Amino acid sequence: MSDVRKDIRRRSKEELRSFFVEHGAPAFHGNQVYEWLWQKAVTDFAQMTNLSKTHRALLSAHFSINHADVAQVQKSEDGTMKNAVRLHDGKVVESVLIPTETRSTACVSSQVGCSLDCSFCATAQLKRMRNLNPDEIFDQVATLNRQSLEHFSRPLSNIVFMGMGEPMMNYSNVIKAIEKITSPEGMGMSPRRITVSTSGIPKMIVKMADEHPRFKLAVSLHSAVEDTRNNIMPFSTNFPLTDLKDSIQYWYSKTKERVTYEYVVWKEINDSVDEVKALVNFCKHTPSKVNLIEYNPVGNDAFEQADNTAINLYVYELSKHQIPVTIRRSRGKDIDAACGQLANKSSH
Ligand code: SAH
Repeated sequence: MSDVRKDIRRRSKEELRSFFVEHGAPAFHGNQVYEWLWQKAVTDFAQMTNLSKTHRALLSAHFSINHADVAQVQKSEDGTMKNAVRLHDGKVVESVLIPTETRSTACVSSQVGCSLDCSFCATAQLKRMRNLNPDEIFDQVATLNRQSLEHFSRPLSNIVFMGMGEPMMNYSNVIKAIEKITSPEGMGMSPRRITVSTSGIPKMIVKMADEHPRFKLAVSLHSAVEDTRNNIMPFSTNFPLTDLKDSIQYWYSKTKERVTYEYVVWKEINDSVDEVKALVNFCKHTPSKVNLIEYNPVGNDAFEQADNTAINLYVYELSKHQIPVTIRRSRGKDIDAACGQLANKSSH
């Protein structure tokens, strides 16, 4: 296990500048180091080639780069790649690269395990072990970016926080990672290409809206009927749907951005006409769109993908009310890389 106190990526640019001054060297070396760490995402001081050997040795004597290592890569027959990422304390998270003809989407984790208890999700069965640090989130993105360049000759086009964990329960680290990913001194990616997905924690959505983010928001809704939602997502008993609705409305008032609802239709759970009507009503409150996600079985018999008739009814009713709806096919199912399947299976 490495020493976190020596972790150079916990130092601000100012601290790095002062470090050099304290050691009788010009402050601007601090800027160079910062760029190597966050723009070029190097994993070793030896790669910092515009610094002298003496300065590189000085850095290694005082610091370490606790970068996350890819312990295993699995490739799906549809081209999706899943990384098992080993963290400095030996814990493992998973992240996924999802290529299409024109895009490379990175799906990243925010926690080891998850704080929440959605009964249809494999990650929830792991329980939350700990939050990821900003650099651990950043490393997943930097690694997937390298893999996208290597395998598809293009950088990442999008990032979704839809891997393991609940981003709102690790809010400040997720925001810090996004800052590093989007800042010109970091990866310089446009925030418009980043989507943060939450199971729906109203007060955190309000907090986030107050900070004027420029990234997009997705909410895992799955039912707009209180009892159904509480049943399949027990944590939501603490967060009434009206509060969720108000927080989303507030988000819209601040960002003027449509929210995406993620929604799986299950047999005898939310495939009734009343459920469809409830969703349509919920969607009418704020400009939104609906992503109907295919269910990926995770070994819980209570859940089964609904028939096409039910899915068609959702599509028909939402479209009738001018609410955009798309059906999202699963990717990477054969390697347990699809939504709700991330559970460190292969690394046990
Ligand atoms: N905790 C956040 C981030 C995870 S995103 C959130 O819930 O939004 C993962 C998405 O996959 C969520 O929309 C989740 O509800 C969905 N999901 C979970 N288990 C699934 C499964 N077995 N099949 C399909 N989607 C699932």
